[in-house]
Amino acid sequence: MKPKKVPLRKCVACQEMMPKKQLIRIVKTPEDEVLIDLTGKKSGRGAYLCGKESCFKLALKNRALDRALKSKVSPEIYEQLAADFVAVEDEFIAAQEREEDE
Ligand SMILES: [Zn+2]
Repeated sequence: MKPKKVPLRKCVACQEMMPKKQLIRIVKTPEDEVLIDLTGKKSGRGAYLCGKESCFKLALKNRALDRALKSKVSPEIYEQLAADFVAVEDEFIAAQEREEDE
């Protein structure tokens, strides 16, 4: 078996390099909206976070997303992301588990 090349991305919170699939993409759209991009296909500047609430909290604390997206992420957006993050975390983990079963 040939080892497959896995694209790696860095989590903006813990700075760990991780396979792209294990990260959640946060994107700043050309309309300056900051969103969670589960498909990884939205256009705009992206930043990656591990699919862990702890990393989200760390990013919130040290404003890692602001720096990664080179834009001020307002507290309202962080709040929205926090709610979304909890909501997507289960879905994200479930999707990964499905993939491991294959
Ligand atoms: Zn992380």
